[in-house]
Amino acid sequence: MRKKIVAGNWKMNLNSAEATDLVRSIEAQMVNLNEVELLVFPSFIYLTELISNAEQLHVGAQNFYPADSGAFTGEVSISQLQAIGVQQVLVGHSERRNLFHEDNAYIKQKVDEAIKHGMTVFFCCGEALDVRLKGEEEDFILEQLKAALWHLTADQLKQIVIAYEPVWAIGTGQTATVEQAEAMHAFIRSSLSNQFGSDVSNALSILYGGSCNAANAAELFACPNVDGGLIGGASLNADTFLLIANAF
Ligand code: PEP
Repeated sequence: MRKKIVAGNWKMNLNSAEATDLVRSIEAQMVNLNEVELLVFPSFIYLTELISNAEQLHVGAQNFYPADSGAFTGEVSISQLQAIGVQQVLVGHSERRNLFHEDNAYIKQKVDEAIKHGMTVFFCCGEALDVRLKGEEEDFILEQLKAALWHLTADQLKQIVIAYEPVWAIGTGQTATVEQAEAMHAFIRSSLSNQFGSDVSNALSILYGGSCNAANAAELFACPNVDGGLIGGASLNADTFLLIANAF
C-alpha cells in the first residue's frame, strides 16, 4: 500500500513563537490519523528546535545547496541538515524554479546530492498556465521528470515522493479539478512505470499541491492516484491542516 502523506510548506512565514505553537497544536491533534504521515517544511532557523519538540510530526527542509561544504555564503548543505536530524527535503518547488532560477540541470544536482545522503526527496513538478492552455502539460511534466529523475535506479527512486503542483494553482485559490489532478497523477505514474517498472511506480506516493484546503482535500484525496497533498497557505493553521490530514 502506498504511503498517504500530507505535508505543509510553510515557505518564509511565521516567527519563532508562532512556529513552535503551530507544531505544538498539530502534535496535540495528531490522533486517529488513519495512517497518514504528517510533515512540515519550516524555515531553516526553526529546524533544530522544531525537530526536538516534534514527537510524531516529521520536520523537513525547504532547501539546501548541492555540495558538502565550502565557500558558498548563505547556503546550507545536506550534511549540515542531517546532523540536526533532517531526513526530508523539498526540491524543484516552482518558487525555487521561478524566483531563484533553479533550472532542470541544477535540480538534478540537488536530487543527486539528497539521494546520495539517503534523504527522502519531495520532488515538485508543475506546469504554468500558458503551457496548460496550449494542452502541453503532459509533455512539460514529462520533461521535468526526465531531466531530474530518469537517471536514477529503481532503488533510488524509492527515496522520491512526487508533488504535482500546477503553478497556476499555487497560492491562487484556483485548485485543479479532480479530473485534472487525477489525469496528471495517472500520467505521472504510468510514465514512472514505463521507466522504472510498475512495482516501483505503484509504491511511489504522488501528492497534489495548489490551493488544496479543508474544503477540497477530500475529493482530491479520493482520486485513485492522489496519495496526499503538499499544502502551502492552508498548512499555517493547525485546525485546517488537521482537517486536510483527516480528509482521506
Ligand atoms: C505550495 O506552495 O507548495 C502550495 C501548494 O501552496 P498553496 O497551497 O498555498 O497553493
